[in-house]
Amino acid sequence: MEKKKRIVVLGAGESGAGAAVLAKVKGFDVFVSDMSSIKEQYKKQLDDYRIEWEEGRHTEAKILNADEVIKSPGIPETAPIIQALEGKNIPIVSEIEFAGRYTHARMICITGSNGKTTTTLLTYHILKKAGLNVGLAGNVGKSLAFQIATEQHDYYVIELSSFQLDNMYRFKADIAVLLNITPDHLDRYGYEMQNYVDAKFRITQNQTEKDAFVFWNDDPIITRELSKHHLKARLYPFAETKESGVKAYTENEHLYIETPDDVFDMNEEQLSLPGRHNLYNSMAAGISARILEIRKDTLREALSDFAGVEHRLEKVACVRGVAFVNDSKATNVNSCWYAMESMTTPVVLILGGKDKGNDYTEIEQVVRKKAKAIICLGVDNNKLHRFFDGKVPYICDAASMREAVDKAFAAAAPGDTVLLSPCCASFDLFKSYEDRGTQFKECVHNL
Ligand code: ADP
Repeated sequence: MEKKKRIVVLGAGESGAGAAVLAKVKGFDVFVSDMSSIKEQYKKQLDDYRIEWEEGRHTEAKILNADEVIKSPGIPETAPIIQALEGKNIPIVSEIEFAGRYTHARMICITGSNGKTTTTLLTYHILKKAGLNVGLAGNVGKSLAFQIATEQHDYYVIELSSFQLDNMYRFKADIAVLLNITPDHLDRYGYEMQNYVDAKFRITQNQTEKDAFVFWNDDPIITRELSKHHLKARLYPFAETKESGVKAYTENEHLYIETPDDVFDMNEEQLSLPGRHNLYNSMAAGISARILEIRKDTLREALSDFAGVEHRLEKVACVRGVAFVNDSKATNVNSCWYAMESMTTPVVLILGGKDKGNDYTEIEQVVRKKAKAIICLGVDNNKLHRFFDGKVPYICDAASMREAVDKAFAAAAPGDTVLLSPCCASFDLFKSYEDRGTQFKECVHNL
C-alpha cells in the first residue's frame, strides 16, 4: 500500500484546526503542533477527528518528516521551526491555499490595509440576501478549510490578510478586491514596504481573463504596481468621482456601478455605512455583487440595510444631546483620519494606547478643524502631548476608560460627538480592541 502523505499543521487556532480537519478528511496522515496552548474548543475538534496534536512545543522529529506544512498566519517566517523546514525544502502553504485545492466554489477575496472586515461582511450580507449559498471565511467567520470539509457552498467571501497571502501560490480568486495599501505590519516584512506591497498583490496571482480585479483607483501604490504586473483579469477600478476608466463612482449624490452591459445606480444617502471610507467599501462590495449578476433591487436593499460592524464607526448612543461613536478598531492613523473626516459635528476625540511608530501629521489638519478636545487614553501619553499640545483648545489625560468617557462627556456640548478612534493598539490598558470598545460602550451606557 502506498504510504500516506504526511501533513503537519503549525498553529492550532481557527485556521490551523480547520486545515487539520480537512487534511484528515482527505486521507492524509496529520499532525498538529502549537508552540502556545491550544484552546479547548480546538482540542476537542482535533480529538473528534482523531488527529494527533501537541502544545507548548514543536517536536522536530514529528515535524521535519512532513511532505507539506500548513502554517498559521500568525507564525513569522523567522520562527526557528520555519527556518528548519525551509532548510529541508519542505513546502509551506497557508490554510487558504490548501483548502482551495478541494473546492470548485467561486471565491471572492478581499484584502487591503484597512476596511477588509467591513467589506467582507458587507459582501457576504449582499450575497446572502440574494439567496446565494455562500460561506464567510478567512480572518472572519469559520475557517475555509473546515467549511470545505464539512459543508458545501457555491461561493465564499474570504477576508485575506497579507500574512495569509504570503503562503499562497496556486490559489486563484475569481473576484479579487484590493481596497488600499498603507504601511502596516512592517516588522513582519523586514521593514521593507515593497515586501508588504508584494504580499498584497498576490491576491491577483493566477487570475485569468474570466476573473475580475476590483481596486481603489486613487491609491498611488496600487496604480504604480498595476503598471508592473500586466494583469489578465478584467479591471474594475472605483473612485469617489468619475475618472477615466472607473467602473464605480459618485455623481450628483448618486452611486453608479457600471458592468459591461448595465449601469446600477442608487442614492448615496441610502447607503447604510457612513463616511468616505465606507463609500469605497460599499463600491467594492457593490461591484463584486454586480459581477455576480445580483439584481439591482436586491443590491440597493442590501447596501442600505447592512447593520454595520461592531467597533467600526459604531453609533453607541446619544446622551443629553452628545453622540458617542465607537471606532476602537482604528488602530492606525489612517483609519482615524477617515473617522474624523466623516464627522459632521465638533468632536471630542479619545486617542492613544500602544503607539506603533505613528506619525500624527496625517490627522493634524482634520483634528485642528474638527476637534474641540482630545482625551489621551494610554499608559504613556507623552508623544500625543508633544504633537497635539497647543493644536486643540483642550487636552487632558485619562488612565481608564471610565475616566476618559467622563472627561469627554464633560468637555462636550449638546450637538457634539465623542469619538473613540485611538490610532493605536490597545494592549497597554486593554486585552484587545474589542475589550476597549466594549468598555467604552459600557461606560457610555452608564452615564
Ligand atoms: P480591517 O479588517 O482591514 O482591519 P476594518 O473593516 O476592521 O478593516 O476597519 C478597520 C478600521 O479602518 C476602522 O476604524 C474603520 O473605520 C477603518 N476603515 C474601514 N474601511 C476603510 C477604508 N476603506 N479605508 C480606510 N479606513 C477604513
